[in-house]
Amino acid sequence: MIVVLTGGTGGAKFVDGLRRLIPPEELTIIVNTGDDHEWWGLYVSPDIDSIVYVLADILSSERGWGIRGDTFHCLQAMKELGEEAWFSVGDKDLATHLLRTQLLSKGQTLSDATSYIAKKLGVRSRILPMSDMRVETRIDTPAGDLSFEEYFVKRWYQDPVNAVRFAGASEAEPAPGVTQAIASAQAVLIAPSNPVTSIGPILAVPGIREALQTTQAKVAAVSPIIGNAAVSGPAANLMTAQGLKVSIAGVAQAYESFLDALIVDDSDSVAAQSLTNDRLHVHCTNIMMRDTEDKTRIARTALALTCPGILSRAAAETR
Ligand code: GDP
Repeated sequence: MIVVLTGGTGGAKFVDGLRRLIPPEELTIIVNTGDDHEWWGLYVSPDIDSIVYVLADILSSERGWGIRGDTFHCLQAMKELGEEAWFSVGDKDLATHLLRTQLLSKGQTLSDATSYIAKKLGVRSRILPMSDMRVETRIDTPAGDLSFEEYFVKRWYQDPVNAVRFAGASEAEPAPGVTQAIASAQAVLIAPSNPVTSIGPILAVPGIREALQTTQAKVAAVSPIIGNAAVSGPAANLMTAQGLKVSIAGVAQAYESFLDALIVDDSDSVAAQSLTNDRLHVHCTNIMMRDTEDKTRIARTALALTCPGILSRAAAETR
């Protein structure tokens, strides 16, 4: 079993590579829920949806979120009714939010609702929210205390960031199966997701960091940072606000207590050399995921570094 910790955009690209290499039953994905928010009265879980959609092979790769070929009639109608419309929801995507909200209102947990929706969409991998309890990423800015979606989508991540906190994390518990999956994994892979607002909330849930520290499995991460910048999005400002360097050293620092291998870009080879030590192997390759070939190549590198046996087994099974 390969366990992946992930957010949405960068994470979904990496998971897209992994799903092409190993049988779906061999994948367990632990997903950030710090970005979850209420929209038009519905419970939206953006990162879970991106992972469900990529594994169901319906994710829009152009947008990196939502369903391929979706329409936006409801969004337009809400605009015309004078409702808020800064968070784009496609019509088919809306069905996911309606169903999830309905399941939650009937008393199901987020884990149950996620697993139900994923199965209905034909997903055979296990997708686990980091917690069934509400943990909310809050961004403290001069303009006020913002939810992640207000900071990221509504305000285009233009605000200076004073600090990031995960409201509710200290009282939260990992969702059923999360720490067990990490403990029994053959490898744990940290997707090239935002270390602060995608992987940070997962690590803030008591028990998950400890599980990563004690698992026998190798833990490898793919860097979302190349040189001194994020490949995309606000990771650089958020890392600075959290006292992390914006570099591969900063990524290594964020995962310091459990990381065995870090996959970085070829252009970071000098920094990679100085970062390598007895406990951390730093592997250089091209880490830009522009197409399916890139995604598969990077996923294969991560598996080869942590659990090479699974690749030869999967290859033998497809023969
Ligand atoms: P979010 O939930 O939408 O914020 O998605 P993630 O946290 O999973 O992904 C965002 C991160 O993915 C950003 O910090 C980017 O730097 C990183 N990212 C996006 N595309 C790529 C890529 O092609 N290669 C690498 N290495 N990182 C990427």
